Amino acid sequence: MPFLSQVDKIGIASVETVEKVPNSLNLRKILPGAKSLIVLLAHILDEVVKLAGKPPAEDGVSYTFLRYQTIREMFWAADDLARWLSLKGECSIPLLDLALKSFPTSGGTPDLRANSPFAVAAGLGELGLSGLLLTPEYGPRQRFCFLLTTAELPETAYNGPALCTKCGKCADACPVRALDTKKLEKISIGNREYLQYARQETRCRWARSLGMVPEAGNFCIGWKDPKLPVPDKLTEEQVKESLQHKDPIQVRLYRNPLCMDIIIERCLQVCPVGKI
Ligand code: SF4
Repeated sequence: MPFLSQVDKIGIASVETVEKVPNSLNLRKILPGAKSLIVLLAHILDEVVKLAGKPPAEDGVSYTFLRYQTIREMFWAADDLARWLSLKGECSIPLLDLALKSFPTSGGTPDLRANSPFAVAAGLGELGLSGLLLTPEYGPRQRFCFLLTTAELPETAYNGPALCTKCGKCADACPVRALDTKKLEKISIGNREYLQYARQETRCRWARSLGMVPEAGNFCIGWKDPKLPVPDKLTEEQVKESLQHKDPIQVRLYRNPLCMDIIIERCLQVCPVGKI
């Protein structure tokens, strides 16, 4: 189909399979009669990921923009596919985020780890210890979007080699040590079980969602370091107060402390899977 030319991989899971994945939204409430979930995936160029926030450019804007644009293009492709399915009498809804609980990455993109199990359920690859979707072609360097549909479609399954090397680089690279290598969580997806490092959600939120840690990417754009310790617990009042310590241009001029944050998921960047 020409309207899917930007899509690198497609997977399909039944709604029944997806709803059994922990932290899933109630899909049949979103679309009564929904039978299948289609996942559309596009690769993010290896070179852009490799250079994000690293010498010689020390720039993260290209990566941040490419991540955003890749998600947009998958969403448009999902919308085109929804129109095509509507000609066949099926009702479909494109969705970016299926997680019941998660914090978006600053800038408004969905939490990749929280959504990865749904892409794994659609047979696109495996879950790494990082909790991210790994594919044999691209490792974790991809983004995806979902299309929930009333069409009853055959499920796709991953039959390739084991992908995660269990090297622990994802945990080591995290600037706030959010991944706990001593605590493994078991997660059931379809008829398989995966292990992932437990993620300290507050620490990850602090760096990825609130943009409070320069090493996570904000040093690239030169924002002032809020210089606050990484918390293990956070109330919403504390979130509001902490955000006031961000760069004065973000806080006072734009009146939006999350404006123009550069966030590079270091766990994704260092993963060796799929690299040539
Ligand atoms: S960095 Fe290593 S341990 Fe982490 S997901 Fe990738 S291969 Fe697995």
